[in-house]
Amino acid sequence: MFHFGFRRYHLPFHQPVRTAYGVWTEREGLLLRLEHESGAVGFGDVAPIEWFGTETLAEAEEVCRSFGDHVASDALTRLPDRFTCLRFALGSALGEPGDPDFENKKALPVAAWLSAGRAALDQVAAKAEAGFRTFKWKVGVADIADELPLLDDLIAELPNGAKLRLDANGAWDRRRAERWLERCAERPVEFVEQPIAADAKGAQDLLLGLAHDYPTPIALDESVMNTGDVTRWLSLGWPGIFVLKPALLGDAVEAIRFLEKARAAVVFSSALETAVGMKAALRLAFAFRGEPRALGFGVGPLFQDQRFDGLYPAPFIRPQDVLGIDEEALWNALG
Ligand code: MG
Repeated sequence: MFHFGFRRYHLPFHQPVRTAYGVWTEREGLLLRLEHESGAVGFGDVAPIEWFGTETLAEAEEVCRSFGDHVASDALTRLPDRFTCLRFALGSALGEPGDPDFENKKALPVAAWLSAGRAALDQVAAKAEAGFRTFKWKVGVADIADELPLLDDLIAELPNGAKLRLDANGAWDRRRAERWLERCAERPVEFVEQPIAADAKGAQDLLLGLAHDYPTPIALDESVMNTGDVTRWLSLGWPGIFVLKPALLGDAVEAIRFLEKARAAVVFSSALETAVGMKAALRLAFAFRGEPRALGFGVGPLFQDQRFDGLYPAPFIRPQDVLGIDEEALWNALG
């Protein structure tokens, strides 16, 4: 049996987040606390993004309320698959996966986030100076005629040996995706993320076609929202990259096992969760057995209340940084 508690958070963003679904001004979610009879305590972060296809916050909260103050471990692990965020949070509160060697892992590089449009050009120098070598630029925000010519201007700003990731968040149709991929060929573009919307008509064949027709790798983000998506794309022989947001993934541990087995290229990424969820997601990233790609956790400062950011955006994250995130302090801050 576990003693169970949950607290709701409303955290205004440091700056509103622009998405294809509108402007997002505050992060809402739940922190969970589980205390085992033995006295061991674990925490979890339920951070849904409904337009990615997760459960709603209200649905997750209703399940938490139904647990009551005391809950048996089998009730915690017997939730329907669609509660992906709650399942992730409970998994982290239950303390899986254990990694006795965690503290000895090498630091992992982090990708620096650049604003959309021309504003990115002015941001590169300071981030390069800070030590970042992978940069991520949001595209598909403006008209292609305005945006595409900026690519070479931006590449000219990058330090030697740097890599650029483009994230279209599904904004393009086939013609636009092809024009971008033609331009990216023979340029230092590490990958183009989600050029076609996950729910576009024929998206699967379009994405496979683009991946085979152009040399720049393509990454799936919105297309891999649960373990079922991961296994489906693996069975299709997806040749590109998988962007994983563990906080949205449900049984992230299982998905990661499949990806490791297939020797797939994986980028671990933030879902704009609090430091509690970030800690659990980064533990999975450090445990990943595969080629380490720069982490998609260069997102801060994220919240007005910076205690919930956990880590200040830095070019590398070390295991000690992750262990230093004090979940109990954040839990208490909501009390
Ligand atoms: Mg993305």
